[in-house]
This record gives sequence, C-alpha cells and structure tokens, in this order.
Amino acid sequence: MIRVQSVAPDSIGGELEIVPGTELLAVNGRPLEDFLDWEFLTADERFLLAARLPTGEEIEYDIERPEGLPMGVTLEPPRIRRCANHCDFCFVDGNPDGLRTPLYIRDDDYRLSFRYGNFATLTNLKPWDIERIVEYRLSPLYVSVHATDPTIRRWLLRNPEAPEITPQLGWFAERGIAFHTQVVLVPGVNDGVELERTLAALYDLGPAVLSVSVVPVALTEFSKHGLVRELTRDECRAALAAVDRVATRALAERGAPWCFGADDLYLQAGEPLPGPAWYGDFEQRENGVGSVRFLQTRIAAAVDRLPDLAGKRIGVVTGRAMGPLMPQVLTDVAATTGGRFELVVVENTLFGSSVTTAGLLPGAAIERALVDRRDLDFVLLPAEAVNDDLVFVDDVRADDLAARLPFPMQLSYDFADALSECGVRNAECGIESQTPHSPFRTPHHGAGKGEG
Ligand code: SF4
Repeated sequence: MIRVQSVAPDSIGGELEIVPGTELLAVNGRPLEDFLDWEFLTADERFLLAARLPTGEEIEYDIERPEGLPMGVTLEPPRIRRCANHCDFCFVDGNPDGLRTPLYIRDDDYRLSFRYGNFATLTNLKPWDIERIVEYRLSPLYVSVHATDPTIRRWLLRNPEAPEITPQLGWFAERGIAFHTQVVLVPGVNDGVELERTLAALYDLGPAVLSVSVVPVALTEFSKHGLVRELTRDECRAALAAVDRVATRALAERGAPWCFGADDLYLQAGEPLPGPAWYGDFEQRENGVGSVRFLQTRIAAAVDRLPDLAGKRIGVVTGRAMGPLMPQVLTDVAATTGGRFELVVVENTLFGSSVTTAGLLPGAAIERALVDRRDLDFVLLPAEAVNDDLVFVDDVRADDLAARLPFPMQLSYDFADALSECGVRNAECGIESQTPHSPFRTPHHGAGKGEG
C-alpha cells in the first residue's frame, strides 16, 4: 500500500478527486508496494486502480490515461531500505550530533539507485527485489563495488554475508541491466594490486558496466580513525596511474575512457584534471567525478544568457575541496559577465576540516564567513548544501540565513542558473533552489559527496 501526499489540480488524479491521504491499493489487481509499482503499473493507457479514501471508502477507478497525460499524484516518501553493512568508513558513523534526521539513515536501496543515482551495494536484495529489477528493467543501477575479491569486499563492508559482486553483476547483465560502479578507495585494503584486479574484473564484465569511478575515502573528525585512514598523495597518484592504464585500454578498445578518477583524487594527488571531453556525458558527476569540468561546460553553454555584471562584486561560497579548482571556473564567468567574483572558501566546522565538499557545509559556518562582509553585492551559495526544504545540514534554514546577512543570496548549482536570475532582477535575488534533487540523498557510503 502507498499513500498519496498531494494531487496536482490539472491532472487525472485531480479530475478523479483523489485526495491527500488516499491509500493506493492495487493496479489491475496487483498490490502496490511502493513508487516503482505505481510508476510502472500505471504506465499503460488503461488500468483499474483500487484505492481507499481517507474516509475509509474503497473505490475502484477505471482510468484511461492517454500518453503524456500526467497522473499528477505525488506519493508520500517511501520507507527507505536500510543498509546491512558496517563499513569502517561509513559517513553516518562520522556524523556529529544535531544534523537533519535523514543524515543518520544508512540507506542501501536499489530503488533509489535507479531513480536518483544513489549508490547501493546490492548486499540486501531479496529474491523479490531481484525479480523486480529484471521485470521493471531498473537500469542503469549505481553500484558500490569497492573490490571484486569477495573476501576483501566483505571486509570493507564488514558484512560476511555479502554476495559475490562479480557473478551478481554478470547475472543481471545477462538480463539486460547495466551499471555505473564505484570503488571507494581505502588505503592498504583495496588499492594497489587489488584496485587493478577490481578494475580488470569490472572491465571483463563487458558493456553492461557503463563506467567505474575511483573515489578516495572521505573521513570526518568523528570517523573511526583507528580503523581507516585517508590516502596519501603518493597513494592517490598510484591510483590515478591505475585508472589511466585502464582508461587508455578502454579508449583504444571501446572508444571511451570508462574508468574515471574522482575530482578529489586528482586534487589530493596534486595532478591536473582531464579536460571536459574526457568525461563524456558526465554520468558520475553527482559522485564528484568531472564536477568541475561539468561546471565549466555549463557556463560555456550559458554564455549568451549571462547578464552584464560590470561593477558588481559577487561572493561565491564553496568548500575547501573546490577552493583550488574554482578559480578556473570563476575566470570564465568573470570574463563573460564583467563581474568581480570573489571566492569565499568555508571551513567545515561541523564535521571537521577533513570534510571539504561544499555539499556538506553547515549554514552556521557560512554565516560566520559572511556576516561581516559589507562589500559584496550578492552571494552565490552551493545549492547542493541544502535539501528540498532549503535547510542546511545543521538544520539552519536558507531563508533564515539570508535574513541575517546584509546582501541578497542565491542558491546555485552552476552559476548560469543563478546569475541569469540575478541579472534579470539586478541583485534582488531571493533564496530558492533552481533545480530539484533527490530528497533521499545522504552523504555517506564513504565517498566525499555521493553515496554507496
Ligand atoms: S558506507 Fe554505505 S554501505 Fe557502508 S555501512 Fe555506510 S551506508 Fe552501508
């Protein structure tokens, strides 16, 4: 059973007078378990929907849904599938007290992997889940592999029951399911020869493995430092060399690099990022792979839309990870708009200085960095630092923050979105998110920003 949260007025759901709180029971007699059933089973042009209204009345709707007409029904958030692993590097263990509740949830949910690109380990699949992945063709899935050696993977996940990943992926691949994969690199465990083995095994699975990213493990002040440490610069360089070897082979044999180092890996290695073309469609950018180049590409594509900002002084808030990389991006924007852009690199006072991603910046730290600035005309904030309710990781609301600061602010994913807006309204930008994102994203599974 799933429950309706809201109904759009100009939609089939609105016409049928389905109201919030209605329980959606079955489609064509098949019980509805979650949003996947709802989406897939109502895709037909005609179906029978059994529902129970909040009054208790049960109704069966005979629905005709011409192609393209929205049902307009938003469901209550699903019960998230919890993780069965206990990784030493789990970000949830590294969380301080007082964060938004979802940040303490260890999700490992293939449904969110399909829908939102959250990484999942596939260690908690029931036979029913496996059937659904194949039946609904949930592809591509985003999978945390970490190591293909079963013993090493089980050790990393701290889960002796974890199934062997290579046969598991191979089984799905034979049934048409494809994957983007990641390896969170833990020094002394799955780097070096093990990394080479893992990359080779994934490559040998053929085209069903669409990409693999190698992401350095990210720890906070509160992580289990007695059990896991971060990579050294030399270890990052060695990992990048392994990535390069496989990418060179993939380029020659498949025409695309296939294997990518996360931006953080380049940063920690002190090596330059590849150019934008390297990343193809930037399919793992949400995982911090090619994010900088993606940003530059977006700005270049939006040149015509960027306003004249001559004489304006614009603050750009970011975390320490992007600090050294951002000047390349800002140079492009400044040249296009004539504005003066100033980077405001904010230290993460909540998780500790080792957490450098902009997506985890607390509102309080941003406020401290900006509160005395009277010289800025407006400020761009990283939109990924707030959830869909525009609340920072430390429960500070973006509009409350804006009210306490002496200049307008705008949440921005890529400058082009927010600057176009600022240009139109001439620095009277309000706080609003330009792009919706998954309400289920949780910054754990060891990667800097992504999951899995
Ligand atoms: S890192 Fe991910 S897979 Fe590992 S314990 Fe945490 S939530 Fe589970």
